[in-house]
Amino acid sequence: MFESLSDRLSGILDKLTRRGALSEADVSEALREVRRALIEADVALPVVKSFTDKVRTRAVGQEVLKSVTPGQQVVKIVHDQLVEMLGGAGEPIDLNAAAPFAIMMVGLQGSGKTTSTAKIALRLTKNERRKVLMASLDTRRPAAQEQLKVLGEQTGIETLPIVAGQSPVQIASRAMTAARLGGYDIVMLDTAGRTHIDEPLMVEMAEIKAATNPHEILLVADSLTGQDAVNLATSFDERVGITGIVLTRMDGDGRGGAALSMRAVTGKPVKLVGTGEKADALEEFHPARIADRILGMGDIVSLVEKAARELDQEKAAKMAARMQKGNFDLEDLAEQLRQMEKLGGMSGIMGMMPGVGKMKKQLDAANIDDRVIKRQVAIIQSMTPQERRKPDLLKASRKKRIATGSGVDVADVNKLLKMHRQMADMMKQMGKGKGLLGKMMGGM
Ligand code: GDP
Repeated sequence: MFESLSDRLSGILDKLTRRGALSEADVSEALREVRRALIEADVALPVVKSFTDKVRTRAVGQEVLKSVTPGQQVVKIVHDQLVEMLGGAGEPIDLNAAAPFAIMMVGLQGSGKTTSTAKIALRLTKNERRKVLMASLDTRRPAAQEQLKVLGEQTGIETLPIVAGQSPVQIASRAMTAARLGGYDIVMLDTAGRTHIDEPLMVEMAEIKAATNPHEILLVADSLTGQDAVNLATSFDERVGITGIVLTRMDGDGRGGAALSMRAVTGKPVKLVGTGEKADALEEFHPARIADRILGMGDIVSLVEKAARELDQEKAAKMAARMQKGNFDLEDLAEQLRQMEKLGGMSGIMGMMPGVGKMKKQLDAANIDDRVIKRQVAIIQSMTPQERRKPDLLKASRKKRIATGSGVDVADVNKLLKMHRQMADMMKQMGKGKGLLGKMMGGM
């Protein structure tokens, strides 16, 4: 997500920080480029205007032009403004209510509503230890209730038994009763969608809301529809009243216009983003981390969290500690490669690291993609423990032996070693807090 915007912005800001002194004209020029980048990312125009105005005012107010490191200060201001635009501290789903309470999911057909319902239910079950019941109120599309039931079976979340002939409101009331009797904490209500907003849909939503008094009403919107998603949120909020937004298909959204404008235009927080089709492809929306990611400063916090959640805790802690110390031998690389497969492949993990744009390009150039991870691991396995700890030992004859042992060319071994060297350097920088940001802020 945000790849294209991130490339543009980090390019612009990189140029700014590499200059010794900045004139007002330099800043204006950079802001013009930032403005263009945001417009190309499909951010709503009023949001772009307010963003650049605020950055300009703050930049001038902070006497950036006289500073020793003016570029860095501008980056910081852009970063802070980005965080503000995205919603400040971020708002997770609010679970502070007496059990059982309802979370009502609304949105258009095909937006990812049913998938997101199951994803959220799974997250509340696994991470929050809540007992969750899911119910589909979509009586219009025959397969809808069945779809939720199947998702329930796949994720191990209970679904309300299907009773033919009931209205959405009847099903919703039955779900609340079942939750009370069954000792559930939360009821996820997956409402029916339409291809577009119409009056009967809004009336139905209002009735369900009145019958269940949901604690959260989450609009599910497809991020790929850009400003349409923002307009949709506004309409739903005016008619039904929403408490937050779930943006789906962020995995395919390189521009991010909807995510970037949503809060500023609608006043409602993006609470979660969908990043894939699988049941665990759901992330909390943390404005500060997203701003880091967009500006190319990486997202170590997300990475470690994700790692801790999905991987063996001990391994994750060891990995983080070694990374921090800059100890990163081939054994660690092999371990990382295996974990990368679990974490959604190389692209998944690289997207969360500092200096990612550059690194990713190097990896692409080295033709490292998810298909070759297994081969990389095989190469490392053909080495002796000593060689894994001290890659410097690997001279020509050893490389040849390893290549033969793992069934690859010596060139492949070299490629792997080069990648390892680059990663080890990167880890060392991360450990010292000298990512892109660290370097830039060093002089302050
Ligand atoms: P609904 O009609 O709104 O209930 O939509 P569904 O939940 O049935 O989702 C429609 C399609 O979008 C399905 O194929 C989902 O797998 C897919 N989908 C949902 N969320 C995401 C997401 O975050 N990323 C991607 N890539 N696909 C998603």
